[in-house]
Amino acid sequence: MKIAFIGLGNMGGGMAANLVKAGHEVSAFDLSPEALARAKENGCAAFDNVQDAVSGVDAVVSMLPNGAIVDVVYRTDVIGHAPQGALFLDCSTIDVDTARTVTAAAVGAGYAMVDAPVSGGIAAANGGTLTFMVGGTDDAFARAEPILSAMGKAVIHAGTSGAGQAAKICNNMLLGASMIATCETFRLAEKLGLDLQTFYDISSKASGQNWSMTSYCPVPGVGPQSPADNDYQGGFATALMLKDLKLAMAAAQSVDADVPMGEKAAALYEAYADSGAGGLDFSAIIKTL
Ligand code: NAD
Repeated sequence: MKIAFIGLGNMGGGMAANLVKAGHEVSAFDLSPEALARAKENGCAAFDNVQDAVSGVDAVVSMLPNGAIVDVVYRTDVIGHAPQGALFLDCSTIDVDTARTVTAAAVGAGYAMVDAPVSGGIAAANGGTLTFMVGGTDDAFARAEPILSAMGKAVIHAGTSGAGQAAKICNNMLLGASMIATCETFRLAEKLGLDLQTFYDISSKASGQNWSMTSYCPVPGVGPQSPADNDYQGGFATALMLKDLKLAMAAAQSVDADVPMGEKAAALYEAYADSGAGGLDFSAIIKTL
């Protein structure tokens, strides 16, 4: 297929390369000349603007920083410029409302569109092992699935338009809260005189077990290899966790949902990011406890 890829940063760069490896013809655009040069090295055709990149394609994939940018890029340069009937896949993490309104605008102009945010970081984007959670109609999902499969290990239909973003921010609100709970628990265990590896061996087989502990332990030297073992470099940045928690708080407010743990996690991550730690992995918040 001919696919345009907009936004070839940390995540999009690897994703576009995997589309090329799967045999697709990929036309790329990014505001950053460095990102565009890397895309070219990976076999994409580089374009100077979105309108030219989407001309004549079967599908458009985007991996952009936020909802405001997604809204402008689609309304200004994709809708009306990509061929009628083309499929749009926005893989960025954005708010549910923007996902729904941009999709409605695209569908109203004769296109199909899914929101398809991802779970998994830069390594999963490069390795083609992302998990996609997809919002859209059954028809749009059926068309999107083979494209997304070239970039991921799992593609799950979450529901109608916006459901992919809803699943993503609910998941990440749970992740943020569970990471802080895991961090404070290990600090308490330490102060109570427990050996941390011993506590890990117990809790990972008991009812406190959770992903933040057993797949991504925030304590260096305990559990499997994680960013904690690399001085909290790499992994999932605190700034991105804060972004997702803010999206979750806005979504909760919009539907009048009570999320006290999510609110607390958002406040703690905001304070930590404001202290200058936005670039560190989100498990580094253990240092504040
Ligand atoms: P990034 O900043 O590395 O990449 C974004 C790219 O978009 C940049 O190269 C930037 O130049 C480009 N861009 C910005 N405005 C543009 C425009 N108007 N037109 C064309 N290109 C434009 O960010 P990232 O880490 O790749 O994240 C992208 C998305 O993926 C975000 O929504 C993020 O929340 C989500 N995400 C990131 C991770 C992660 O671990 N990095 C994990 C899951 C989801």
